[in-house]
Amino acid sequence: MITKIIRRHSLSVGNTDHGKLYIVDDNYLENKLKLLFEMNGDIGLIVKFGLFSGLREDEMVYTYNKSLCNNLSGCVCEKLHVLEKSNGTSIVLIQWHRGHKKCYFTIVPTKIFKSFKELPSFAYNPHIRSAHSYIKTKDQILNFMWLRKAHYNVMCRTMKPFEANVLAGRAKTVDAKHYAMYELDSMSNNYVEAWSKYGVNFKSLSKYD
Ligand SMILES: [Zn+2]
Repeated sequence: MITKIIRRHSLSVGNTDHGKLYIVDDNYLENKLKLLFEMNGDIGLIVKFGLFSGLREDEMVYTYNKSLCNNLSGCVCEKLHVLEKSNGTSIVLIQWHRGHKKCYFTIVPTKIFKSFKELPSFAYNPHIRSAHSYIKTKDQILNFMWLRKAHYNVMCRTMKPFEANVLAGRAKTVDAKHYAMYELDSMSNNYVEAWSKYGVNFKSLSKYD
């Protein structure tokens, strides 16, 4: 019986900081995502960047403020290094650690990443706060932090839990390094597949789609 429930509802393990177990129904997630995808303008773009990157709020601000480095291989400078893939995604090496919070890299649709970096400004206040309030006007249950949880849920439905944890910054550095060096292509393909289950096609995404 329990196995059945786990299979049907894709039980998500360890998705909160408190280590709680909870279930997320596929239809529930699909309906909430649909609502978020419909948001337009800069707020819509910020919501999509949060959703597709799964980054924490401070990591989004960090990513926005860092300039891009053009050296794609073996560079250890402080800037952001971005690998653009032919499947419509970009892998952004972030490598930012604060205490127990880690972010190694994220995968995002290239068009959404470029549009996000082109925003004239981006900060917690007013941008994330406005997006948070706007989301709440559409659905009381949702909030900005929910975007990261939804991202993890979408990833876990296609990726191995271990991969999803590397992406969410919840793995050991040595494991993340292995993924960054050898598994990026397969991870980025799994990422595309994960979102395609929710009707997202990265190649046809336009600026604010
Ligand atoms: Zn560099």
